[in-house]
Amino acid sequence: MLHQWNKLVVFALFFAWFNLAHAEMRVLACEPEWSALAKSLGGEHLTIYTATTNQQDPHHIQARPSLIAKARRADLLICTGAELEIGWLPLLLRKSGNGNIQPGQSGHFMATDYVTLLEKPTVLDRSEGDIHSAGNPHIHLDPDRILQVATHLSRTLIKLDPSNQSDYQQKLTSFTQVWQNKISEWNKQVQSIKGKPIVVHHNSWVYFQRWSGLNQVATLELKPGIPPTTSHLSQLLSNLQQTPALMIIYARYQDSKAAHWLSQKTGIPVVALDFSPGLDETMVQWFDRLINQILETTT
Ligand SMILES: [Zn+2]
Repeated sequence: MLHQWNKLVVFALFFAWFNLAHAEMRVLACEPEWSALAKSLGGEHLTIYTATTNQQDPHHIQARPSLIAKARRADLLICTGAELEIGWLPLLLRKSGNGNIQPGQSGHFMATDYVTLLEKPTVLDRSEGDIHSAGNPHIHLDPDRILQVATHLSRTLIKLDPSNQSDYQQKLTSFTQVWQNKISEWNKQVQSIKGKPIVVHHNSWVYFQRWSGLNQVATLELKPGIPPTTSHLSQLLSNLQQTPALMIIYARYQDSKAAHWLSQKTGIPVVALDFSPGLDETMVQWFDRLINQILETTT
């Protein structure tokens, strides 16, 4: 009888150990780029939920009940930060009641905390539109900054789940290798468009322009976050008729009317880009697609 009981204890202990060893960290990512990056760096150790798709504007989403439920159970929150999610993340955090993912905790990871930001405004004037007062948050379009974020994200995963440290380190090494090779490949690809003028819908491509050497000459929005006005568009039209641009770029989730109107009037090609990776797409696949789409538009 005692023997039987012992067996049961051993069995129970084994199961407890097995569950512990295979406990997955629950990650809530604000945007698809961070879930894609986390997937590469954490793989099977993570269960990831993404708050937005690449068809949504990450500046504006609803802190809906299903999202609050995910936030309540998350071990790690990965977002862009720098006020990109200011319209919904503070509320989500408050409603989650989850101490682990609050600011200052190890489960609170804001990618922009680990890179330098461009366009920090010297004067903050809300009449100038939806200004990002911490600087431009759209850092995920710069491959070099992605690498910096990856290093820090990997450290966070190790801190929260030290039992899988060597595996996280190995995943970071292989991601870094692949990404660096890709950077040199992409660098060669964008040589032909360096210095070329482009028009964008919202000022969300600044990191991409810096990295690729494209030259943003105008935005369709006169003020960030405020839809293009007719007077601004006609001004743009006359400018572009004198000095044409290579292309007009907008994110697929944005209203395309203004971009197409301007394209029709000027004959400048227009391209809709996915601002973030698609479902199950890796960062490499998405960035490959982005660059190819731009290059195809120029030929
Ligand atoms: Zn923005």
